[in-house]
Amino acid sequence: MRQSKTLIPTMKETPADAEAASHQWLLRAGYIRQNFSGVYSFLPLGKRVLQKIEAIVREEMDKIGANEVLLPALQSADLWRESGRWDKMGPELMRLNDRHERDFVLGPTHEEVVTSIIRDEVKSYKKLPLTLYQIQTKFRDERRPRFGLLRGREFIMKDAYSIHDSFESLDQSYQDMYQAYSRIFTRVGLDFRAVIADSGAMGGKDTHEFMALSKVGEDTIAFSDQSDYAANIEMAEVLDIYQQSTESMLPLTKVDTPNQKTMKEVADYLGHRLEEGLKSLLFKVDDRFVLTITRGDHEVNEIKLRHFLQAESVELATEQETIDLLGAGFGSLGPINAPDQVEIICDYAVRAVANVTCGANEQGVHYKNVNPTRDFPTATYADLRFIQEGDPSPDGRGTIRFAEGIEIGQVFKLGKHYAEKLGAQYLNDQGKSEAVIMGCYGIGVSRTMAAVVEQYHDERGITWPAQVAPFQVHLLVLNSKKDEQRELGDKLYEELSNAGFEVLYDDRHERAGVKFADSDLIGIPHRITVGKLASEGIVECKVRATGEQIECHQSKLVDYLSDLLK
Ligand code: ATP
Ligand code: MG
Repeated sequence: MRQSKTLIPTMKETPADAEAASHQWLLRAGYIRQNFSGVYSFLPLGKRVLQKIEAIVREEMDKIGANEVLLPALQSADLWRESGRWDKMGPELMRLNDRHERDFVLGPTHEEVVTSIIRDEVKSYKKLPLTLYQIQTKFRDERRPRFGLLRGREFIMKDAYSIHDSFESLDQSYQDMYQAYSRIFTRVGLDFRAVIADSGAMGGKDTHEFMALSKVGEDTIAFSDQSDYAANIEMAEVLDIYQQSTESMLPLTKVDTPNQKTMKEVADYLGHRLEEGLKSLLFKVDDRFVLTITRGDHEVNEIKLRHFLQAESVELATEQETIDLLGAGFGSLGPINAPDQVEIICDYAVRAVANVTCGANEQGVHYKNVNPTRDFPTATYADLRFIQEGDPSPDGRGTIRFAEGIEIGQVFKLGKHYAEKLGAQYLNDQGKSEAVIMGCYGIGVSRTMAAVVEQYHDERGITWPAQVAPFQVHLLVLNSKKDEQRELGDKLYEELSNAGFEVLYDDRHERAGVKFADSDLIGIPHRITVGKLASEGIVECKVRATGEQIECHQSKLVDYLSDLLK
């Protein structure tokens, strides 16, 4: 590709509103442009990178026997009503009407469409298992589109769906897909971890997220420093191995704690450590109220609470609700003498403490010398808190550390949820009608592109790994007004292209400094510079990522690059 004949609008300055490195560099190096919030155009370089990633995805999908399809982005609202997600999904679902005022959806994902096709076209177990996938534009009206391609409102996803007549068959496809995802992200060049994740309200069970390690990641990964255990922090189990306090129980007493609201304020006021206070939070769980009790230095994990109670929704009660039910507002709540209709659930750590403090359900009053087994004996105990760095790894090996991650993919066992909602039935080998069993699997293709840039850049621009770089070789002619330079450049461009290399050829009439700066920004792995030594047939070869540099005779160039790239 001749640079004089393509569109690579590089920018000297960092755009003011771009926070993430990938957003900055992809804009500055001319890969993408924002059209409006969360919506981007992929310019020629950006499109080439996408195609590289997509090609890797296709190869790995084909290897596990998945079939590529292309499903409509525009979907009938009726399907979404059938699945229940028309109401459940809220404002993230992009809704629109046609000229007859019928409701439509711009697909954020395709479980409904796939299930409806299976319902209509797969009648017998003989057709199962079956895996379909597509690479397609998705739409989600994200509350906070940000970080460029990392969280768009329109983005490119590879989504796959497997359909089965048994859970063993689903397990097999899940494993295949998990392995394929591991190969894809390895080939793309990412430093990633597959982590145990939360299945949310999707009705499924097993699920893993693939996380590219990065500071801008919005998810926290808890991993062991000594084993391959890794989980989304939402899911990481905390072992119940607390040392029981040996203190003898002191008599329960009330103390005034005027205007002391937070755990820290109360602890400072009463002169004890944070972990010597109990934190009480009132939650609305589906239709009932639950008071959670954790140690003052621990945080309640709402997802664990939801799982423990097998609830659909968990939200913090309002202050008015706590006043109505417990007789006090936030900051003075506690389990002692709470009304019967409020269920009390304590984190395991609470069972081990003695003579601690907690709210007294009177504004500005706390109890001292609280002993859980004596003072609120009816409570239930569970693993309720977020894991912390330094906690033992749940697999019994090593200590937990945290890292930030970008979710680049997810594999998910859906089970029969959508099949039952949409009536996707088949005849099993006994001739009996049953709902199909499904798995679904996604990769954020455009997000993956940004995640690679998060991991591969330096202070001058992008440093693509060769497998996903838009071109393999950047050929620069420093002074294209000089005949011998231009002629050698043209000759090498042709030779390298004929030898099968993907070459971006900077044949523009620009100053050398501009060409070098643009080349660093764009980040193609190998740079060949035709400059002053052109008359002797000598060019300079530089590796973008490492800065390694050698001089090479033009006749040896194809061999040199073949060694490096093939
Ligand atoms: P997130 O938690 O980041 O919002 P998600 O779990 O809702 O993502 P999935 O429904 O699992 O996303 O979609 C599959 C994949 O699509 C994700 O793993 C992610 O890589 C990608 N993806 C999801 N939302 C976006 C988005 N707004 N912009 C870019 N990629 C996205
Ligand atoms: Mg996900």
